Amino acid sequence: MSERALYGAIEAGGTKFVCAAGYGPREIPQHFRTVIATTTPEETLAAVVEFFEQVRRVAGPFAGIGVGAFGPLDVDRRSVSWGCILKTPKPGWSGVSLRAPLERFGCPVAVDTDVNAAALAEARLGAGTDVDSLVYVTVGTGIGGGVVLGGRTVRGLLHPEMGHIRVRRHVQDQNFTGLCPFHGDCLEGLASGPAVLARWGGRFESFADSHPALEIIGDYLGQLAATVALVLSPRRIVFGGGVMNGRLLPHIRATAARELAGYLPVAERGGGFERLIVSPGLSDQAGIIGAMLLAGA
Ligand code: ZN
Repeated sequence: MSERALYGAIEAGGTKFVCAAGYGPREIPQHFRTVIATTTPEETLAAVVEFFEQVRRVAGPFAGIGVGAFGPLDVDRRSVSWGCILKTPKPGWSGVSLRAPLERFGCPVAVDTDVNAAALAEARLGAGTDVDSLVYVTVGTGIGGGVVLGGRTVRGLLHPEMGHIRVRRHVQDQNFTGLCPFHGDCLEGLASGPAVLARWGGRFESFADSHPALEIIGDYLGQLAATVALVLSPRRIVFGGGVMNGRLLPHIRATAARELAGYLPVAERGGGFERLIVSPGLSDQAGIIGAMLLAGA
C-alpha cells in the first residue's frame, strides 16, 4: 500500500465508462484503468464499483473520486438529486444517481459534466496552460461545451449546453430539417456526426478537402465560436471530439473572424484566431484527466 493519496476518476459516456485510479492526473498506472460498456445502469454501475473495490484492495482507500458524465446532469450540491442523470432520451438512465454507488468508498465525490471535466483538464494541463479562461467544445454524436473561468468550471441553473444554440443557415444548406429531438435545426441538429451522416452519407474522414460538408459544418461551428467569444470572453476555445479534425479548424476560424467583424481584440490582445481557436492538447485523454482533477488530484 502507498503512503500517497490515491484518487479515482470516471468518464461516464453514453457508450462506455472509462474508469481510472492514480496518484495524479499524469500518474495513472496502466493496470488501474478499465473501460466498461454502457448498458443498463445496474449492470454498468456494478462493474464500476467492482473496479474501484479491486483497486482499493490493492492500493488502499481513496482520497477522492471525480466523475465527468454525459448530461443532462444535476451538478448542484444543494439539490436532492445532486449527481443524478436528469431526463435523458437514453433508455433507463433518467434519474439514475452516479454519486450514490460511490458513497461506499467513504471519500469526497465530485460530479461535473464530461465537457466541463475536459475543459478543466485542457486548462490546467493541455491547450490552455497559459490562460485562465477556456471553453472546450466536443463535436461527435452530440455537441457539448464546457467552460472554465478563473480556474473553475461553470455551473448554474444546469450547466452549459451550448450545443443547442441557434445558428444561421448556410446558403448551401437550406433544406435539411435537423436531427435534434428538442429543437430540430439547432447547432447539434445540424452539425453533429449523425447530422453529417444523414446529409452526406459518410464521415468526415472519407471526404475530400473540397467536399461542401467541411465549409458548411465549419461555418456552423465558427458561429458557435463567435457566440462563445461574445458571451464568455474566453482566451481559448478548444474543439475536440470524434467529428473534429484539423481540416475543419481553418473554416471555424474564418467564420468566427467574419462573424465578429473586428469587434473583439482577438488579434491585438489574443494573439489572433490561431491562438483563440485550437485543437486539444490532451487528445482523447482530457475527459479522464479532468475527472481525476475533479477528484482533487
Ligand atoms: Zn437542440
